[in-house]
Amino acid sequence: MSAPAATDRVLATLNADGSRRWIRPRPSHGRYWQWRRGVAWFLMALFLALPHLRIAGKPAMLLDLPRREFTLFGTTFLPTDTLLLMLLGISILIAIFLMTALFGRVWCGWACPQTVYMEFLFRPIERWLEGGWNQSRALDRDRRHFHPRRLAKYAVYAVLAAILGNSFLAYFVGTDRLARWMASSPMEHPTAFLVMFGVTVAAFLDFTWFREQTCLVACPYGRWQSVLLDKQSLIVAYDRTRGEPRGHGSTARAGLGDCVDCTACVTTCPTGIDIRDGLQMECVHCTQCADACDAVMTKVGKPVGLIRYASQESLAGHKRHILRPRTVLYPAAFSLFFGGFLFTLTHRSPADVTLLGAIGAPFTMEGSDTVINQVRIRIANRTGAEARYTLELADAADARLVAPELPLSVAPGVTRTTSVFIVAPASSFHEASREIHFTLTDGRAYRAAFEWHLRGPRRDDDRRDDDNRDSGKRPESKESR
Ligand code: SF4
Ligand code: SF4
Repeated sequence: MSAPAATDRVLATLNADGSRRWIRPRPSHGRYWQWRRGVAWFLMALFLALPHLRIAGKPAMLLDLPRREFTLFGTTFLPTDTLLLMLLGISILIAIFLMTALFGRVWCGWACPQTVYMEFLFRPIERWLEGGWNQSRALDRDRRHFHPRRLAKYAVYAVLAAILGNSFLAYFVGTDRLARWMASSPMEHPTAFLVMFGVTVAAFLDFTWFREQTCLVACPYGRWQSVLLDKQSLIVAYDRTRGEPRGHGSTARAGLGDCVDCTACVTTCPTGIDIRDGLQMECVHCTQCADACDAVMTKVGKPVGLIRYASQESLAGHKRHILRPRTVLYPAAFSLFFGGFLFTLTHRSPADVTLLGAIGAPFTMEGSDTVINQVRIRIANRTGAEARYTLELADAADARLVAPELPLSVAPGVTRTTSVFIVAPASSFHEASREIHFTLTDGRAYRAAFEWHLRGPRRDDDRRDDDNRDSGKRPESKESR
């Protein structure tokens, strides 16, 4: 039994019976489209090229999740750089808020991968292979989903989705490893293969089937618009004062506005809406309706710009104010967080050092009176040159350092872990512990002191103190022994 048809207006992407209404926008190759195409091709090329580019010998972008190291434009962030990444993340978020307050959804229309790939790669291929936007609509209407032209489109989409999936993986594993993996069996790297396969399938389904629904129901940024925009923000808008009352035929007819009600702005819209209904959450500000309308206005001899970038206030005849609370507060907050990021970045230590205890037994005994502690030292060389790190014990004349690998050479940007052994007499331990200090240096800019607690056996004195404590007596002090 089919659902009863809606008697009122339904969503732009639904038919009256509730089924999906496929949006096949008519292309509008106006001035905005020319500019957007330039930006889109640049961004698509950048996405493919970034993992291949090197800056100061490092990948321009590498998000090494297993090692928890992020390399962005030649700068490597380590797991200990949480503060830096947090400051950078907050700065980006505030910049997005500011950009939206000033220019509306300019990101959605000009730079979002969903729009860029859909409108400037997948949609043109669809029109080319299916014979034009009208032929695509005819295939939908006749439910010819397995028409050879459409199957050919799916095949090309699958190849493109696989390229996107592999490019995506390159951001996480690097291009060298990706090239090796592509020449070997997926069974040798099953996790990475599954990630690539998952992204490929997601991209294929997105650009084949889900399409504008990503912007309408899945994207959180679209949902934020009602709070991120205000009446002064620049939006793609229909000039109602100039356009209404709309009407067919001669606009010279008394009382009619400039809108000839041709619906070119509706048939070109990738989300299927009518911009003349005012600002809507579904509008991704792609400017296709502006291009379509400009072409119509030129044809009917009217000035272009009936649909244009404008603020709601300026359309209402009021002056547009750039300065308002959110355009003052956002830059102030951005300066604070991004300034903090730059300061922390430029004042980072030239090395990032982490001390770790032994794996397995906390200490070993050599005979009955000598304790050996293993200390693992992980050193990340943040400088642009190779560094040689040495370690010295401080104020520990009775202890000895055994460090087979020191001085340790670490290449720029590389992290290495080495083990040193500290040999100390068992009598120097109290309560199974002994504090020790040492200094690590690279002989140049880096020098840092560390404190470490060696582990050792419990001595008879310690046990006696424990017994006294348990029986309520005061433990004997060192001086009294
Ligand atoms: S394209 Fe322009 S003239 Fe045509 S319906 Fe839209 S607003 Fe009116
Ligand atoms: S209404 Fe215009 S700007 Fe908004 S999504 Fe549709 S075509 Fe793009």
